[in-house]
Amino acid sequence: MATLEVEGLAKSFGGVQAVRGVSFAVAPGEMLALIGPNGAGKSTCFNMLNGQLRPDAGRVWLRGQDITGLAPRRVWRLGVGRTFQITATFGSMTVLENVQMALLSHQRRLGGLWTPVRAMDCAPAEALLARLGMAEQAERPCGILAYGDLKRVELAIALANDPALLLMDEPTAGMAPQERVALMALTAGIARERGIAVLFTEHDMDVVFAHADRILVLDRGALIAQGAPAAVRADPRVREVYLGA
Ligand code: ADP
Ligand code: MG
Repeated sequence: MATLEVEGLAKSFGGVQAVRGVSFAVAPGEMLALIGPNGAGKSTCFNMLNGQLRPDAGRVWLRGQDITGLAPRRVWRLGVGRTFQITATFGSMTVLENVQMALLSHQRRLGGLWTPVRAMDCAPAEALLARLGMAEQAERPCGILAYGDLKRVELAIALANDPALLLMDEPTAGMAPQERVALMALTAGIARERGIAVLFTEHDMDVVFAHADRILVLDRGALIAQGAPAAVRADPRVREVYLGA
């Protein structure tokens, strides 16, 4: 079964048809890139998938369950994680503490264990940070981290919720090119290990072609192409509207 299935998704703002009848699916462990020029409707799609925006038309299923129009909190509880362009961590708390808070919140969501933070076992948070290459930074306050490291913490926080689907809207914005490739390589590895479906937007085509299993191309609210990176790259319509070639 697909992790996410979307059919006929549409949204208008006043007279602007931001998204018009978009349909696609994402499989467990798959890295799916959503690309398209500015204003194509990428963020609007994301906002409809995580419940921030109610679609005018269309349906969204998560692991077969209809989640169309559910509030963001409920969508998150059902296993949709999201990373944001502006990172949100507690700056005066350490990296480890931030991740522990996220794990604690996940445990409570699963119903139960009202462990106080101070009584928590550090091992799961430490293991997660180690997997993200952040073991050395565990005791540093988030407030003093370099931007690229903060992005990794944010990814750790999203992963702490054990998502089935991870939505990443421009995850590498503001990062240096090598950092971008590294972050997405890491994300792809973890997605495959854990069977997490990842939908991401990205402006850097090198990153997209290196790490997407499949690509969706959005232009003025409509999908104009989808497929494997090589096929999308060769598609004349895509070259015309998006790659400018
Ligand atoms: P992208 O993320 O691909 O750059 P967006 O989804 O942000 O595109 O925007 C798609 C279109 O919808 C644009 O024309 C944008 O101006 C418009 N739009 C997005 N959000 C709103 C909003 N809240 N109110 C009015 N128009 C919006
Ligand atoms: Mg956007």
